[in-house]
Amino acid sequence: MGDNVIAVRGVSKAFAGVQALHDISLEIAPGEIHCLAGENGSGKSTLIKVISGVHAPDAGTIEVGGEVFTKLNPREAIANGVQVIYQDFSVFPNLSVMENLAMPAELASSRPLVSWRRMREVAKQALAKIDVQIDLDEMVGTLSVAQKQLVAIARALMSDARLIIMDEPTTALTRREVRRLFGIILDLKARGIATLFVSHKLEEVFEISERFTIIRNGKHVITCLPEELDRKSFSTYMTGREFDETRFTPELSDTAPVLEVSGLGLDGAFDNVDLALRPGEILGITGLLGSGRTELALALFGALRAETGEIRIDGKPVRLEGVRSAIAHGIGYVPEDRLTEGLFLERSIGSNIVISEIDSFVSSLGILDQRKADAEARRWVDELRIATPDPENAVNTLSGGNQQRIVLAKWLATHPRVLILNGPTVGVDIGSKHDIHRVLRDLAAEGLAVIIISDDIPEVLENCNRVLVMNSGRIVSELDPAVTGEHDLVALMSEDIDAAAKGE
Ligand code: ADP
Ligand code: MG
Repeated sequence: MGDNVIAVRGVSKAFAGVQALHDISLEIAPGEIHCLAGENGSGKSTLIKVISGVHAPDAGTIEVGGEVFTKLNPREAIANGVQVIYQDFSVFPNLSVMENLAMPAELASSRPLVSWRRMREVAKQALAKIDVQIDLDEMVGTLSVAQKQLVAIARALMSDARLIIMDEPTTALTRREVRRLFGIILDLKARGIATLFVSHKLEEVFEISERFTIIRNGKHVITCLPEELDRKSFSTYMTGREFDETRFTPELSDTAPVLEVSGLGLDGAFDNVDLALRPGEILGITGLLGSGRTELALALFGALRAETGEIRIDGKPVRLEGVRSAIAHGIGYVPEDRLTEGLFLERSIGSNIVISEIDSFVSSLGILDQRKADAEARRWVDELRIATPDPENAVNTLSGGNQQRIVLAKWLATHPRVLILNGPTVGVDIGSKHDIHRVLRDLAAEGLAVIIISDDIPEVLENCNRVLVMNSGRIVSELDPAVTGEHDLVALMSEDIDAAAKGE
C-alpha cells in the first residue's frame, strides 16, 4: 500500500514503567483529515512523537515516502513531508514574526549574508499561503495564542509538507478562532495536504474529521468514519465506560419558584431579563461570547449590580449587595475559570471544600473544629468521586475534571438553594463531564434549583429542562430541549438581531 502519506504499523513504546503505546497502527491517506482521539494520558502525544522522529519506538515500523523505517529522526520526518504543530507551538517569543518564519530557511541556506529583504518576502509569502495577516515586525511573544498558532502553521507549510500534525490545537482557542483553523485545514486538504488532528473534544472530532482513530491506554480501539459512530459509542470507546444519554426531565411538584427575576438590566451587558426557576429544575442559559450570559450570571450572584429590575427569592424582593449577600440568600456560583476564580491551588483539597462555610466549623470561642471540617471535606470527596488518595493533597495535584468537582463540592458545602454554574465542563474530559452532569441531575432531584450557563450545545440540551437563548444582551427565546435541534439553537444564538430589527 504505497498510497498513504504515512502508515504506522504495530508501534509500541514504553517509558520507565509506563507502556505508553501498545501495538498501534494508523494509516493516513493524502489530503485526509484524520482525527486521533483519546483521553488525557492515552498516548496521543507519544504517538505523534514517534511519527515525527522525536521518540524511537520499541517495536513496529513507520512507512513514509515509500520507505519503511524502524525509527525515524526528525530530519527524515521533515524531509518526508511530516510537520508537527506542538501544543506549545515551539515558536520563539523574543523574535519577530518575520524572524520566526524566515530565519530557519535563511540559516539553512549556504548564503554568507543574511538578507532582511529576502526574509521579509519569504515570511510574507508564508502567511499569504494560509491567507492571514499578521504584522511581520511584531514580537511573537506578544501575539495571541491563535496568532502564535497561525505562525507555527505558516512555518510548517514552508517546507513541502504532505502531512500536518496538530496536537490538541483548539485547547486555548475561541469558537471563532476554531472556525478559522478548520477553514485552514479544509484549505490544506484542497491542496492535497493531510491533517492529523489530535483532540479529545467530541464536537470537534465529529465536525472536522473524515475518519478517526480512537486510542485508550496506549491501545488502538477503533478506526472508523464519523457516520459509523454516534456520540454515545464514541464516548464509550474513549473512556471504556457506558454512559446513558438520556435527557433531563425534572420531577416537579407545583412548588413556587425559588428564584424570580423581572426586568433585570445592566447597561451594556443585558436588558429586560425575566426568568423564574423552581426547586428541582435545571435551567440552561446559552449564547455566544459577548451575549451577556456571563454578566447575567454575575448579577444573579451579586458580583455585578443590576441597574434596573428586581430579583425575588421565595417571592420576596432581595437586594444582592454583593457576593456575601447572595450566599446568605442561598445562591452559589461555580465560575467559568475555575483555576483563577474558584480555588486556592496551593491549599489542600479539604480546605478548599470547606472554606466557604468555615464559619460553621468554628465554635463561639473562635476555635476551628478540624475533625468536623475534615469529615465534611471527606464526605464531598466521596460523594463527588474526586480521585485523590488524600484530601490533604494540594488542589493543583488534581486533573482539570477533579478540580472542577472541588469547586462544586465547595459550593455544595454551603447548602445553596440555587446553584449557578458558568461553563461547568469547559476543558474537562468526557468521563468527568458525564460525572459532573450526573451530579447536577442528582442535586436537582433532591430539590436544588440549577442554572447552567454554557455555549456547549449538547450540554444544555441534554441536561436542562428549559433553555433560554441570549443574544446581544436580550433573552430572545425559551426552548424545550425535547423538541429543539442543535442547529435551531445555533441559529438563534448567532442571528444578527440588531440587523434584523433594523430591517423591520
Ligand atoms: P496524551 O497526549 O494522550 O495525553 P501522552 O502521550 O502524553 O498522552 O502520555 C501517555 C502516557 O505516557 C502517560 O502515562 C504519560 O505519563 C507517559 N509519558 C509520556 N511521555 C513520557 C516521558 N517522556 N517519560 C515518561 N512517561 C511519559
Ligand atoms: Mg498530549
